[in-house]
Amino acid sequence: CGIVGYVGSDRSIEVLMGGLRRLEYRGYDSAGVAVIDGDGDLGSRKRSGKLKVLADDLKRHPLDNGGTGIGHTRWATHGGPTDENAHPHLGDDGKLALIHNGIIENFAALKQELLDAGETFTSETDSEVAALLVGRAYRETGDLTAAMQQVVNRLDGAFTLLAIHRDQPGVVVGARRNSPLIVGLGEGENFLGSDVAAFIEHTRRAVAIGQDQLVTIRPDEVTITDFHGNVAEFEPFEVAWDA
Ligand code: GLU
Repeated sequence: CGIVGYVGSDRSIEVLMGGLRRLEYRGYDSAGVAVIDGDGDLGSRKRSGKLKVLADDLKRHPLDNGGTGIGHTRWATHGGPTDENAHPHLGDDGKLALIHNGIIENFAALKQELLDAGETFTSETDSEVAALLVGRAYRETGDLTAAMQQVVNRLDGAFTLLAIHRDQPGVVVGARRNSPLIVGLGEGENFLGSDVAAFIEHTRRAVAIGQDQLVTIRPDEVTITDFHGNVAEFEPFEVAWDA
């Protein structure tokens, strides 16, 4: 339902939780975050219920903070509103975290293919197929953008996807089809959001990702391509909005 991504200084958790709070008005049943910390470990936490449940959990058992992270509020379509079905979903043996908005129409066939290949599922969501597929593609390509590109070409339906991988700190990769994704341009930091509310307290310079485009953000760089890797030009705009 709501998506936020961040690369920059070691304050991902505050940025992600703040962004999710600003996206609360859209409605949701669960929330979660994943962060690559300073030691290069990937930590994630997800809970059904209000954002406050996740915030209290993080207060009691803090995640190590870091400069690369993704956050999600879920509106369940496949699988009930449980902790397990909340996003992020993990891939590549827990080294990759992925969040998804929308519905992957062909998930049943992809799930069967993954089960046949020996993968195990921990949720009932359509989204987890994307996490496992991008994880497998990462093992092949060693690059998150290339892995995401491979996978989005196999998905039908509506999706905004964001992924991070422990072995590529300082990178968040996003993709979209039939579901929105906006980049927020900062100074030495960049943001992603399903809507500008996700990052409006940090920057008003934004770029709308087009239909069937991929985006890779780093602290000092934003690259946008189509689903075949062809680089796309982009024109930032100023968000005129009273936040
Ligand atoms: N279809 C996914 C799920 O049920 C994503 C739902 C959403 O957009 O929040 O987990």
